[in-house]
Amino acid sequence: MKFLSTRGQTPALSFSDAVATGLAPDGGLFLPETLPDFSGQLAGFEKLSYPELCFEFLRVFATDIPTETLRGIVAKSYTRFSDPAIAPLRPLGKNLYVLELFHGPTLAFKDFALQLLGNLYANQCQVRQETINVLGATSGDTGAAAIHGLLGRPGTAIFILYPDGRVSPLQERQMTCTGADNVFALAVDGTFDDAQSALKEIFADQDFRLRLRLSAVNSINLARVLAQCVYYLWAWLRLPVSERGNVEFVVPTGNFGNVLAGWMLQKMGVPIRGFRVATNQNDILYRLFTTGEYRVGDVHPSLAPSMDIQVASNFERFIYFAVGRDPAKVRDVMATFKQTGAYRFPNFDRDTFTASRTTDAEIRQIIQRVHKDYGYVADPHTACGFKELSADRVNVVLATASPAKFPDTIREAIGIEPTDPSLEALKSKPIVKHRLKAEPAAIRDFIERHAVAK
Ligand SMILES: *Cc1c(COP(=O)(O)O)cnc(C)c1O
Repeated sequence: MKFLSTRGQTPALSFSDAVATGLAPDGGLFLPETLPDFSGQLAGFEKLSYPELCFEFLRVFATDIPTETLRGIVAKSYTRFSDPAIAPLRPLGKNLYVLELFHGPTLAFKDFALQLLGNLYANQCQVRQETINVLGATSGDTGAAAIHGLLGRPGTAIFILYPDGRVSPLQERQMTCTGADNVFALAVDGTFDDAQSALKEIFADQDFRLRLRLSAVNSINLARVLAQCVYYLWAWLRLPVSERGNVEFVVPTGNFGNVLAGWMLQKMGVPIRGFRVATNQNDILYRLFTTGEYRVGDVHPSLAPSMDIQVASNFERFIYFAVGRDPAKVRDVMATFKQTGAYRFPNFDRDTFTASRTTDAEIRQIIQRVHKDYGYVADPHTACGFKELSADRVNVVLATASPAKFPDTIREAIGIEPTDPSLEALKSKPIVKHRLKAEPAAIRDFIERHAVAK
């Protein structure tokens, strides 16, 4: 299988090359050249464990990795989850389930993709006899999950920039208390945007990028989207047969990576009724799915910080399909959007997608209501998923983070402080972070001195 850029001006790449490249050189995002059809295989998938299912799914795409190597990579990627089901589907009430995606090492759904990505990178280093330096900027969850995907992996080093004092104390501990000597948490002086723009400048320096063998960790990597398809399939297979065709997945959404994966799975022949795009007060996608217009707004920090985005970086993959897989049209749409900050879609799949928007005040109320009605504690991101449920569909709400990551909001809402043993253990470990100015020169210098040697 080959992978193409949404903008059509990059040669087709193998799975491993598309994963290593991240963002396509033409500015587009990678997608499979054709979407496979799994409809004939679904019955055979029912008995598989989570890693077995993941392997059967990924082998269709990762055709350049030897079968047994891929099987090993996938198996290893799901050994650090604390629940034996990996992604348990819990019934909460009539026509209502919650799919818990927070039993990985950093207690958020990003572990599903980033554990796998870490192992793919490590494999690539081994096969190509290379080393790799991974660099990313984070406002919280992604950095922690990326670090835990790579910590201690031979041949790799990871540098994560985050705004000092502006990530939650627990998120900071997840990044800074690992004890691993290939992990560098860089606390920069400034905001997330300052960190992000320093990072962009560093990647634009071709010499430096190539000399240090830098790779970006961000939300648009092809491997992340494919890894995330698997838990939708897993959940679908756990539902009673009579409910499967009527399922609506409710997805707390920021960069559109998670819900995009579910939607692509539907296009691969899995009969899913629809998706609910659940945003917080940063509602660019809610406005899109209710009005047809995609228009940039300002970011307002919320109680669900991992969904605080201005532009959804994975949305271009959806646009590619929405304009009939025509890369020239994608380039047009992106150019219009860049110039004017808005784009109006002429027609739209209103039947597949519904959307909701949740304010901070509503997040607190929903946490209370869900606790009262179902005895269930939802984290602030997951709470957005419970805003409106469809009466005539089977709702599966994706729980994207553990409530233990957000103890203050939960305590304020229901008077209970959720905890998790892995977070408690971190509290006694020393914080190791490197304070830097949010200036490319200072960051480059640090990387130069700590990078893994060739
Ligand atoms: C990243 C994140 C989201 C948003 O996911 P997208 O793929 O960006 O839409 C939602 N909830 C949590 C807890 C997250 O960490």
